[in-house]
Amino acid sequence: MPSFVINQKCDGCKSHDRTACMYICPNDLMVLDTEKMKAYNRAPDMCWECYNCVKICPTQAIEIRGYADFMPLGGVVQPLRSTDTIMWSVKFRDGELKRFRFKTRTIPEGSSVPDAGFESSSDDLKSPLLRTEPASNGLDELAKL
Ligand code: SF4
Ligand code: SF4
Repeated sequence: MPSFVINQKCDGCKSHDRTACMYICPNDLMVLDTEKMKAYNRAPDMCWECYNCVKICPTQAIEIRGYADFMPLGGVVQPLRSTDTIMWSVKFRDGELKRFRFKTRTIPEGSSVPDAGFESSSDDLKSPLLRTEPASNGLDELAKL
């Protein structure tokens, strides 16, 4: 089942143009009804159920069915992000509620070093190597056939 918005929870991100779910959807599916200030999925058939919009929504207004490989049918799953963790709440058909919290980063927000400190330049586009190779492989040079 594709993403769907619970109207009572959606506040339109208090925005008049681009909302969080519109920003994050890789398939450009989420749109905002600017009269009602509610978002909706305009093409459910095209939804990959990637969970991006579910995870970014600040009001937990978007739901998608849980995949059968991590929860039984009929359950409801909802993620809640913080700056360095994500907590998944799973509500089962019998009403039991379980919560799982995972760390999402190991360094403070905003402290990532571009290219992990390895040198790179636009000349890399002409190289058959991947960006930052061979140094990021811990090598001076990659082996040749
Ligand atoms: S991210 Fe959530 S609150 Fe914001 S517009 Fe989308 S559904 Fe509504
Ligand atoms: S689940 Fe993914 S593809 Fe579907 S609407 Fe949300 S962000 Fe877009």
